Amino acid sequence: MKILVINCGSSSLKYQLFDMTSETVMAKGICERIGIQGSALTHKPSGKDSCVVEKDMPDHKVAVQMVLDMLVDPVHGVIADVKEISAVGHRVLHAAQKYIESIVVNEDVKATVRECFDFGPLHNPANLIGIEACEHAMPGVKNVAVFDTAFHQTMPEKAYMYAIPYEYYEKYGIRKYGFHGTSHAFVSKKAIEVAGLDKDNSKVIVCHIGNGGSCSAVLNGKCVDTSMGLTPLEGLIMGTRSGDIDPAAVQFIANKEGKDINEMVEILNKKSGILGISGVSSDFRDVTKASKEGNHRAEVALEAFAYRVAKYVGSYVAAMNGVDAIVFTAGVGENDAPMRARICKYFTYLGITIDEEANDKFRGVEGTISTPDSKVKVMVIPTNEELKIAQETLELVK
Ligand code: ADP
Repeated sequence: MKILVINCGSSSLKYQLFDMTSETVMAKGICERIGIQGSALTHKPSGKDSCVVEKDMPDHKVAVQMVLDMLVDPVHGVIADVKEISAVGHRVLHAAQKYIESIVVNEDVKATVRECFDFGPLHNPANLIGIEACEHAMPGVKNVAVFDTAFHQTMPEKAYMYAIPYEYYEKYGIRKYGFHGTSHAFVSKKAIEVAGLDKDNSKVIVCHIGNGGSCSAVLNGKCVDTSMGLTPLEGLIMGTRSGDIDPAAVQFIANKEGKDINEMVEILNKKSGILGISGVSSDFRDVTKASKEGNHRAEVALEAFAYRVAKYVGSYVAAMNGVDAIVFTAGVGENDAPMRARICKYFTYLGITIDEEANDKFRGVEGTISTPDSKVKVMVIPTNEELKIAQETLELVK
């Protein structure tokens, strides 16, 4: 069975075609600058040369059709007929409290995605356009929505409720939702398998740290807390996002600088985090280089980042009354061994010891970086959100 996975952003569309018999990627690619001048499709078929097609893509409908044409292209294609695609899995950002699992798209699902436009103004509209474009291009083929928020819907009220007047929760659904759910689900499940834990008696903390970042506490295979909130702005320090901050600081800056609330949130989303503190870059590689060259602000940014992750992990140890495994994933978590070491130095109170050689060795690959006698297993597990979306899609349509 072949499953197409689609991840639509406001001006982009990423795709991967999976052969689910072997769970391998047959082709993947990205359409960029959709609706903007200079749009292009970069297609990477497995075992063949990559190619770039520069062609006007006024909207996602055109982009989806270009992807399908490319998949059956006599030279660059990997299938003979679009009819070989059994189903399409879509990454969808926000479903608020409606869906706790992935679901085959029907009119109700589309209505929910639409109702959540306010919660994900950049992503949800694009996600819906992607779904409708696939319905149009592949009539009769099932579309499955896989929500970033779904895995976190098992959080108890005490974890998701903000301590603000309750009417805002009732009127607008203002609460913690959490994101990166597909990744947290995939990685925590894998961690339970790799560490040989009993799922029904397991305590796992996942640190998904990339440009965006979030930690989650997974008790007996279910999420009980996560660091992102109503939006992806809460929690960890990220590439360009502030994470947690005193809301009164935002008011103070707004008053001093004559900015409105929307401008402030933009600053907290796009100009803060590692970039804001260091003044160098949002990319950890650049900031690490600057720190090594003696840039004090770069060093502070990296240590503040590590400290915030360590504090979240500590709070989740408390939330679950213990921990069996701590897992690092995503761009920084999988590759940045020095950052993992920085974070793990805060964990000696848990009886954790890190095998420095192993930590240095595992970059972008799965491995255990704690020593055999460490009280808690610390692991690197590469995330694979697209495969998880394909697996969930297969599960619902087979
Ligand atoms: P997102 O999906 O949130 O955009 P990723 O998970 O792809 O982000 O992570 C991107 C970040 O990972 C980059 O900003 C970069 O700082 C970091 N990164 C990637 N590779 C490395 C590496 N080899 N060493 C250090 N940092 C890395």
